Amino acid sequence: MSYLNHAHNRIRTIDLTFSAALLLLTVMLFLSYYIRDELTQSNKLTDHTYEVIMSVDTLSNSLLQAESSRRGYILTGNVQQKSRCEFFAQQAQENLKEVKDLTVDNQGQQQRLARLGEQIDRKLAIFKISMAQYDRTGFRAALQAQLTEEGTALMTSIRTGIDEIKNQEKTLLGERRNKERSTLLVLTVVFLSGISIAIILLSLSYYIARHESRSHLIAADDLQAANRDISDLSSMSQMLQSCSNFEEARGILSCYGEKFFPKDSGGIFLINPSRTLMTDAATWGAADSDPFTPDQCWAMRLGQAHLSAAASDVRCQHVEMESATSHLCIPLAAHHETLGTLHLSFLQNADPDFLLRKRLKAAAFAEQVALAVRSLQLREQLRELSIRDPLTGLLNRRHMEESLLREISRATRTNQPLSVVMMDVDHFKTFNDTFGHEAGDHVLKEVGLLLQKNVRDSDIACRFGGEEFTLILPEADCDIALEICNRIRNSVKALQLVMGRQHLGHVTISAGISVFPSDGDTIQQLLAAADEALYEAKEKGRDCVIGSCTLLAGHTDPDSQD
Ligand code: GH3
Ligand code: MG
Ligand code: MG
Repeated sequence: MSYLNHAHNRIRTIDLTFSAALLLLTVMLFLSYYIRDELTQSNKLTDHTYEVIMSVDTLSNSLLQAESSRRGYILTGNVQQKSRCEFFAQQAQENLKEVKDLTVDNQGQQQRLARLGEQIDRKLAIFKISMAQYDRTGFRAALQAQLTEEGTALMTSIRTGIDEIKNQEKTLLGERRNKERSTLLVLTVVFLSGISIAIILLSLSYYIARHESRSHLIAADDLQAANRDISDLSSMSQMLQSCSNFEEARGILSCYGEKFFPKDSGGIFLINPSRTLMTDAATWGAADSDPFTPDQCWAMRLGQAHLSAAASDVRCQHVEMESATSHLCIPLAAHHETLGTLHLSFLQNADPDFLLRKRLKAAAFAEQVALAVRSLQLREQLRELSIRDPLTGLLNRRHMEESLLREISRATRTNQPLSVVMMDVDHFKTFNDTFGHEAGDHVLKEVGLLLQKNVRDSDIACRFGGEEFTLILPEADCDIALEICNRIRNSVKALQLVMGRQHLGHVTISAGISVFPSDGDTIQQLLAAADEALYEAKEKGRDCVIGSCTLLAGHTDPDSQD
């Protein structure tokens, strides 16, 4: 699955967990409001029960007070006791009504209160009868005792009734408390678990969000590095495109190799035209620049990247055993041709992730290098084609003129002599007519090879055109040029010309020398002077060399006896 899909999934998970947490918290908010409501309701009911119990106690107290006042009045005849009795009797009636009002929603209590009410009414009636009796007849012990006895019996059943009502209220209170306790327990468990789940969900979404933002940072870093790499690759390609020769490219390749793989040693090795040897085009770090054969590199043998990540993996033979923990070779291929290999040695411990990144980066680098190297090689080949004569491989006339101009400037600067030689194959038309044009070409090739062999690296040998050749000999005066020309002339004369089975005999050459600055200081002057000298050599009978020094000395060749 792609990185983007992963990111979408993670964002969806964050949305879900966060929304679920918010929903849970909202539910918990309502639940806490509900709990508060329940508690208030329950407190009200408890208060109500206590109120009922207190009212019942007050009723009981009023009855007791009325009873004791009645007794006080009967025994003492104190009128105050009588009015006190009447007062408490009145109170008891009110208390009863109050209790009835308080328990109006409780059918059982209402029935009990109805029964109690009757007994109380009777009790209060006994009070009245007892006190009225006393008022009428004074204290009559037997009668009062009878009334007191009935009152006491009534009081016992009143007490029992009151206790029943109180017990009923207490039972109700207990039940409410139990219910309240279990409701609270359930609500608390639900509340706490809801809050815990919400916290877990919030933590989860925070964790995922954090992980996601870290992944974004890493991805941004990777993207930045990739952009940097692309930009570096592009500037490397541009610079390589602008190189005029391979020597310039070497410096650029080393510089960018170091830039791309700063902690690793590495090199770019290119195969030679005969595909027998790999030589370094660039190296960086502690990489070995010794050449090796293509067989010593597995990337070259297999035509694909070769990674040796562990000591047990097969290593390329060109990699020193102790120099690196792992190494990677990638073939440099462009236009279906393998040009060489990119080699990297990793000194640090290589984990699979590290190696994968390196491999991708190295592949991109190798691809650009291969394209640039191929383009450079093609440009060099084109340039070679444009400056070399295809038949002899010598430099052509246009390049000779550029070189001559440069050498004249140098000779002027260094105050050194410079010789220019014009050479021409003698009677070449006759040779062509005798052996054919192909044989003539063969002769021109052989002469070209001989010229290349007989001049120094700093000398320039060109095919001027047709069967004419030019030599530019920096720092050579006429004597030295004469010596070189005669050496070449003798070598040409000694050539055994054979084409296939056909013996072509021998050819000779004539040459004319001009020297800077005595014979001229421009290309035209020097070439014209050398041409004039050549003409003289032809005039003199060919197979000879003419220059100012030979004219002065009066000889053309010290070995001309042969
Ligand atoms: P001389 O000794 O005076 O130089 O005589 P010559 O016959 O060499 O001179 P001439 O200029 O008359 O003939 C030059 C001949 O070289 C004419 C042409 O057939 C031949 N030639 C010129 N270019 C080539 C070439 O590329 N290949 C071959 N095979 N022959 C060439
Ligand atoms: Mg000629
Ligand atoms: Mg000729």
